[in-house]
Amino acid sequence: APVLLWFRRDLRLADQDAVAAAAESGAPVVPVFILDDSDRRPHRAIGGASRWWLHYSLQNLGESLERLENPLILRRGDSAKTILALVAETGASAVHTGFMPDPGDRTIDKTVHDALTDKDCQLIRHRTTLLHDPHKVKTQTGNPFRVFTPFSKAFEAQVHVRPPTPAPKHLSAGPTLASDKLADWHLLPTIPWDKGMAEEWTPGEAGAAERLADFVADAVSDYQTARDIPGEAGTSRLSPHLHWGEISPWQVWEAVGQAKGHAGVTTYRRELIWREFAAHLLWHYPQLVDQPLRTEFSDFPWRDDRAGETAWQRGQTGIPIVDAGLRELWSIGWMHNRVRMIVASLLVKHLLIPWQTGESWFWDTLVDADLANNCVSWQWVAGCGADAAPFFRIFNPVLQGKKFDPKGYYVRQWLPELKDLPDAHIHEPWAAPEIILRAAKVSLGKTYPMPIVDLAEGRARALAALKQISGRN
Ligand code: FAD
Repeated sequence: APVLLWFRRDLRLADQDAVAAAAESGAPVVPVFILDDSDRRPHRAIGGASRWWLHYSLQNLGESLERLENPLILRRGDSAKTILALVAETGASAVHTGFMPDPGDRTIDKTVHDALTDKDCQLIRHRTTLLHDPHKVKTQTGNPFRVFTPFSKAFEAQVHVRPPTPAPKHLSAGPTLASDKLADWHLLPTIPWDKGMAEEWTPGEAGAAERLADFVADAVSDYQTARDIPGEAGTSRLSPHLHWGEISPWQVWEAVGQAKGHAGVTTYRRELIWREFAAHLLWHYPQLVDQPLRTEFSDFPWRDDRAGETAWQRGQTGIPIVDAGLRELWSIGWMHNRVRMIVASLLVKHLLIPWQTGESWFWDTLVDADLANNCVSWQWVAGCGADAAPFFRIFNPVLQGKKFDPKGYYVRQWLPELKDLPDAHIHEPWAAPEIILRAAKVSLGKTYPMPIVDLAEGRARALAALKQISGRN
């Protein structure tokens, strides 16, 4: 009997344990991907930028499987029902797949597992996207961690480094099955907003390997300092590749170890452990996808501000570092981490708009949109998550801009209308003398907006809002 090889967010052949197990089983292998468009809790349909990425990633995986003479079968529908129908159609003896920590995937797996209990077919889940099982790291009292540093210590003590495994040379083909055509899924946008994304990214396993090789050759050793400078290519930009599993975290962990500069390697690996921590939190607290982990924040007096929300989404807040970030996001489907923190802080603190509003905008527009990383990071900024930055610590976006983009390279890249402003005024055009604005052809309110919020007033209002919930507890 054949075995099903069910790809999920692990779209690669090398160092992929479900692929290796299917290949080693010696049975004919049926590789399959299911597009589940349903948007019913706890399952969340993927956003627009993710659909763009998925199209090219599946195209790439399909081509790699063609080279092994074993085509990828595409099916669309409810994941559990579709995989069970495929088991019935093929008489498969096993379903090899990756373990996913998202609540929606866990529900699907339970349905499949329960439906297969009295059948001659097993659901076998492999760890394909994480370095370690998120539920295996525990505190001494057997509880989940809520603080990063002790989590990372426990994680490092437990995790065993293992060398990545190569892609199989052979994958015996299974029965010929009907497959959807990728183009018929219409994952690509009908209005062409994807030009910037196409220029920036090469989705797929080969593109991921190339990105990693470049980072190891050029940037890891400087990572510790360059990672905070959005105008420099100081980070790996591997996040969408890691999210879609086009590269394994082991491959990344191992490869950066080859680079010179120990400090950079340690700092970089710590980010990979943050990714594990987010998965750990999501595993134990699935409610964090839409509810604050610190429950006192359930009563937080958020504002309903549609105009503010729209200005923020479009990068028209009048605060340059914030607008640059949001336009980078809209253009290439990615934003630098430092700037993600700054734009998120402005939304939840100065504008008092709920973090869930920002989270869902990111979900729709990021090519690396990841349920665990996105929700945990938004809650971190909003002060309501595990190990979060305290709410009262409010970023001043002007000072952040001056510190991390002192020459304004980043702002000028994304806000060409400000490009002629001198460095001293680039982060604060409203404070520039009229003569300087005129020389730079900047007319506030016309060529570039006035700030939608006064930063001092916004800060005071945020602290007053915090007092309301603190007073109640
Ligand atoms: P690098 O600095 O090169 O880091 C290497 C890898 O480590 C990343 O690719 C990523 O997989 C992981 N990583 C880095 N920082 C974090 C972090 N704080 N938490 C978890 N993993 C991390 N990351 C996502 O992958 N998806 C998201 O949806 C997402 N949403 C975010 C929302 C907000 C408000 C904030 C502040 C951060 C968010 N992040 C998210 C985390 C981080 O910003 C990105 O992972 C990072 O910017 C990706 O760029 P890079 O690959 O160059 O990172």
